[in-house]
Parts: sequence; structure tokens; C-alpha cells
Amino acid sequence: MKPSFPSVTFPNHYTMMTGLHPESHGIVGNSFYDPTLEEEFYYTNPEHSMQAKWWSAEPLWVTAEDQGVRTAIHMWPGSEANIPDVEPTYLDHYNKSELLGRKANRIFELLVQRPGPQEIEADPTLANGPQRPQFIAAYIPEVDSIGHQYGPDSPEMLETIGHVDLFIRTVDFQLTKFGLDKVVNFIVVSDHGMAPTSTNRLVQLEDLIDPELIATTEGWPNYGIRLRDPSPEHLETVYNRLQQQTALKGGFNVYLRDRNMPERFHFTNNERIAPLWIMPKVGWAIVTKTELDVSEAQANNDVFHPLGIHGYDNDEPDMRAIFIARGPAFPRGRVDAFQNTEVYNIVCDSLGIEPRPNNGTLRLPLKVDDSVPDIIPGKFNPEDEDNDGNLQFPADPNDPDANVQPAHDDAAADAPAPEPTPAAPSDVPTSDVDDEFIDNPIDAETKAEIEEEFAQEEAEAEGMDEEDWKEWFGDEFDGFKGWVDNLFGGGKGGAPSGGEELGLGLGDGAGEFDKVAEFEGGGWEVGVRPGDVGIDA
Ligand SMILES: [Zn+2]
Repeated sequence: MKPSFPSVTFPNHYTMMTGLHPESHGIVGNSFYDPTLEEEFYYTNPEHSMQAKWWSAEPLWVTAEDQGVRTAIHMWPGSEANIPDVEPTYLDHYNKSELLGRKANRIFELLVQRPGPQEIEADPTLANGPQRPQFIAAYIPEVDSIGHQYGPDSPEMLETIGHVDLFIRTVDFQLTKFGLDKVVNFIVVSDHGMAPTSTNRLVQLEDLIDPELIATTEGWPNYGIRLRDPSPEHLETVYNRLQQQTALKGGFNVYLRDRNMPERFHFTNNERIAPLWIMPKVGWAIVTKTELDVSEAQANNDVFHPLGIHGYDNDEPDMRAIFIARGPAFPRGRVDAFQNTEVYNIVCDSLGIEPRPNNGTLRLPLKVDDSVPDIIPGKFNPEDEDNDGNLQFPADPNDPDANVQPAHDDAAADAPAPEPTPAAPSDVPTSDVDDEFIDNPIDAETKAEIEEEFAQEEAEAEGMDEEDWKEWFGDEFDGFKGWVDNLFGGGKGGAPSGGEELGLGLGDGAGEFDKVAEFEGGGWEVGVRPGDVGIDA
């Protein structure tokens, strides 16, 4: 999936929730200046930036709540801004030290411990208590944070991806275990990619422009500049001087918002976008002398930090994001790459709600490209007899080191694969349909088993002993059982509307952690220890 420009966190998370380019939803960077408000938006200052005045476009959770679809938003950037007076039913505030295991538990608590419409119809008193959300969006900051700290190609990055893979496997395992994979649409997205940096790819800002001329700078790694003298003549003079520098020095481009900003950026039509921009090429960075003296650093062979950066041209392959979806609303196979402005319509369609006007054009059902196999040769294939559990990367024909195999993901290889609860033989005719996608009802015995097992896990998690658990289970069972009945009885046919939605944002933020992940007696336990890294961009 192609991110929107600039390829940084806040603009892209809000694009996925609105279907709008950043110039249209107004969150044009992680930091920017608003000439009307005469104020600066800065993403790591929640008291200031999480106010409705910055966020004028309607996000998906408001669209959904307005149409009677309950939402749960777990730390999604922008969700704490009270936009516009409609809140998600469940809102989890940003917490940089939230554990991945607790995220997984939170998702399942929302999914299986809250009554839905059918249970409430049967027992109207349930309407007085908390109810099940139909859309859950959760945000995971670890991959971005480690990428900045250690670089996108580092062993630490591979290890972190392994941890997040385990989290996704945990969610996927639980969905499968409860038969929810037949009714829940599970979408994994990221907000952007990342490029490695180098001390040899730095530009000193003071070599390009006299800092005395600058009123404000906005954004990172791109430099939006408002001049102290904003007259068109002065802007022209400064721009021409910068253009001469691009030819001499290389490593960056210079654009005027109202003249030669590439149209594909959709980065013009908002006064929050500065009139003049210096944009580093991919892998390059612009630094001030107070941050780093470039000649000195190069002479001393100093290592430049952060080791990974994003925010560059959204057409760059290194900036690409991911979109992976599974569930009744999605066909099996690969689709042509699309920009993340399409995510909003896709999710609205899968929830059966009417989207607000936006920049997206794709609608469900997605058209699968049959010419592309859904498992790429050379990639990890669980059905491959020679598969040793290690990830294999296809060789890049343009890469001179194409014969060198990248490091294997040992963390992922060492972890046992989860065993989904086997479904009982089905009465559903199999004919020419792929077995995996038949909505197999499971038999009553298996169903009772997994209900009991889950309830026991829950009880253990809450520190109850067996007696407490029996008592608790007796109280909880009826409502829970009714809901499971509805799930196993319904949800056939793969109709997109009325399904449950589970969106997971993989993106920016915080957290260095140790992994503890075990597969024990049918339940995953994933624990992580957070570090003290702040939110990143
Ligand atoms: Zn970042």
C-alpha cells in the first residue's frame, strides 16, 4: 500500500480514518503551523494537539457511531481529540508502555465479553450495560520506534517484527479458535515504511539558507519554511538561491507550494502547508548546526541518529506500507497496490455503513489479480515440504548482493505454530470451494470445550482459583454462550455488511521490550517489557 505524503504517522493515520489526503483533512504533518489559529501543532504535545480545532474532518469512528455502529479505538493517533462531539463507545488513551499481550486481551475482552444486538433483543436488560463494538482499531508503536533507533535492516528490527508477528498470530489464533475468522474482518495496515540513514547523506541547513531569514520551520525530515519577510519577491529570491544549491550539493529538492509541488503529493491546498519546502531525497537528512555539525561528524566517522527515517516521497519503495486483510468481506488473492486514501471506503463497506465524501475510489468487493499467486515463490510457505520454518526472501534482481541471504528470523522460527481448534467434518457441500473458506459449523461438544477453555483462561488471568472460577463461569456463561451460538449459527455467505471489523494499525511510537511468548495448553501468553522510549514520528 502506498502511504500519503508526507509519509509520517499522524497524517497517514488520519488519512486511513477519513479517506482524505492530508491537505484535505488538515493534519498535514506531525508538526505544522496554522496561520489562522496562529498556533503550532505538535504531535507529542497531546494537551495542545488533541483538541477538536485541529481535526476538522470526520473520522471513521464518528461516521460509524452516527450510523449506529459501536466503535472501540485503542490508541489510534487522533482519537483523543473529541471530533466533533461524537466519541467512540470505547476509547483507550495512548499509553507508551502498554504490553502487546494486554492489547490482545483487550481486543478479545471487547469481542467476546460484551453482548451484541441479538443477545440484547433476547434480553433487553443487557442494553443497560456495556455492549459489543463492531469496529475495533488498535495501534502498535513498537516497529517504528525500533526502526528509528536501530535502523530498518537491523537484527533488533527483525526481532521486533517477530514479536509483533506473535501478537498477530495470537489474535488470529483466538479468532480461529472461536470460529470468529468466519465473521470478523481482520485488517493489518501500516502507516509508512522506513529508510536507513547515513552520516554521508546529510545536508547542513545553514549551508543552504541564512537562519536569520526563517520565521518558522515545520515538519521532519522535510523542512517547511515560512520566511520573516513573506513577500512574493523575497520568496522568489530565496527559492532561486536554494535551487542553485540543489544542483551543487544534491541530496534534496526544493519546492514552492504554489508553483512546482509535485501534483501527486496532493500537498498544496491548505494554508497549514508552508510556502517553501526543502525535501531530502530518500535516506538523506537535513540538520541544523545545533543538532549536528556535518563536516565534523563526517571527519570523525560519527554515526548519525536516528538510524531510520521516513516522511519522504510517498512513491519511494522504501516508504511503502502494508495492507493485509482476511475475513468474509475479502476474497483470497492479491490486489493491485493502492494508496491508503482507499482504506476508509473499504472499511466502511465491510461494516455496511455509508462513507462520507472522500478521495477514495475503491469499493468492495476488491478485484483479485488471478495472475499473481497468493504465495510468492521463495517466500515462506507453510505448505512447502522443504520449509524449515525460516523466512526466505526473494532475491531482488537489481540488488548486487542478491545472492546473499538475509538473516533468518530465529525468534519466529523457534516459536511453535499455533494449532487452530480443528473443525468437525462438515455437512456443507465441498464441491469446488477451497476447504479453508467454507463456513464449517463446529459440533456442540467442541464448542462447549472451547467455551469452557476460554472461560477458564479468563478466570486464571483474573487470578481466580477453581472454585471462584466455577462461580464466575456460572454467571457469565449464559450471555456468552448465546453470543457464541449466534456466531456459529450465523455469519454464513460472506456478506460484507454486518460483519465485525478488527483493524490493527502497525506504526509509530514507543517501546523496547523483551519477549516472552509461549504456547501453553491451548492458550497464548505474550508478555513484553516496555522501555522508556518516547513516541516517534
Ligand atoms: Zn516514525
